[in-house]
Amino acid sequence: MTKPDDASKRLRPLSEVESIPQAGIEAATAVMRSGQLFRYGEFGSDGQPAARLEEEFAAHIASRYAVAVNSGGGAMFLALRALGVGPGDRVLTNAFTLAPVPGAIAHANAEPVMVECTPDLKTDVADLEAKVRESGARIFLLSHMRGHISDMDAVREVCGRHGVTLVEDCAHTLEACWNGVPTGRLGEIGCFSFQSFKHMNAGEGGMLVTDDPDIAARAILLSGSYMLHLQHGARPDAAVFERHTYTTPNLSMRMSNLAAAVLRPQIPLLPERAATWRRLHDVIGDLLDGVEGVTRPVRHPREDYVCNAIQFFVEDLDPGRMTAFLNRCAEEGVPVKWFGAAEPVGFTSTYRSWRYVGELPDLPATDRTLRCLCDMRIPLGLTDTECRTSVSTIDRALQDVRSSSRVSSPR
Ligand SMILES: *Cc1c(COP(=O)(O)O)cnc(C)c1O
Repeated sequence: MTKPDDASKRLRPLSEVESIPQAGIEAATAVMRSGQLFRYGEFGSDGQPAARLEEEFAAHIASRYAVAVNSGGGAMFLALRALGVGPGDRVLTNAFTLAPVPGAIAHANAEPVMVECTPDLKTDVADLEAKVRESGARIFLLSHMRGHISDMDAVREVCGRHGVTLVEDCAHTLEACWNGVPTGRLGEIGCFSFQSFKHMNAGEGGMLVTDDPDIAARAILLSGSYMLHLQHGARPDAAVFERHTYTTPNLSMRMSNLAAAVLRPQIPLLPERAATWRRLHDVIGDLLDGVEGVTRPVRHPREDYVCNAIQFFVEDLDPGRMTAFLNRCAEEGVPVKWFGAAEPVGFTSTYRSWRYVGELPDLPATDRTLRCLCDMRIPLGLTDTECRTSVSTIDRALQDVRSSSRVSSPR
């Protein structure tokens, strides 16, 4: 078994999160000195961080409107509510995603309809169309899970043909593009997360972007703007709010000025950080391609991806040997996650753990793909040497486990 003390010392590089830039620390300190941690003031919000963050984020991603909220899950829930999703409605989503996504659907008292993933971790578009027909669902909450961007031309075509509204979960794709268009701008609404393991870090936080004034107004009112919605940054005109003010509840899911202050200086860093993440991803990817028994999901040429984790498949090992492989990696300071585990571990639950949705769907293609799927984090500070060390650790652990079996059939 692992020795926790030892292991935690060596685990540090891969579990590391990005620290807050000095400008963010100073802005946060100024907010604390002023005491104005709440985003709304009695007499306007000029210069206040949450409103400025909304303007800057909207400008960065070229959306008309942006609404800062408490979390990525909060952004997705508010997106669904702003679209009028309510009890008993069905919402399409990817079977390969993480717990906040079906959670946002459950929060809206709706039912997820799960769509299969392909062997390359994308939306299975044929299954999407079949599920649209079967379920009659009008909304697809598409999760660009682990930064794998589905064939968005095909997804949009199916959604357009069936009148399905597309909401993007961009928790793993801030700064990534499909065919030159940033994710979050490919559907009606884009949702982002600023939890510490994402591309911008405020501990907690989220953002909803859209070009639709009525959706933006409803999202702002739902997020809990009291009657202070005109203090928002990238917001629609006052007249739009008049259509919704008295019919929209305040759900108190706001972002604080403190979180916004920490986030604002991270926006200008995004392009360079994205380039670094992509480079580290590709360095590790090339090394993994040289490991016997490992394959990787194939990317579409139109995907301009940004990843702070890398995914790979290990040849079908029985659960015992898989566990031995993972333990061995962890002991040597390279925590690898496995999506095929029978029980959820850490962040990595699968659709089989979301039993509150009712009867579990039959998703054989997703099961097959997840069974061999592994995942390793890529902190921004990783050095090329650490990339090599990590992959050679994986290589040694895997070859040991493979050779310990009598029958190992190469793929
Ligand atoms: C992190 C994450 C979210 C949002 O999570 P919050 O913790 O609510 O900010 C949404 N989708 C995926 C796939 C995620 O990993």
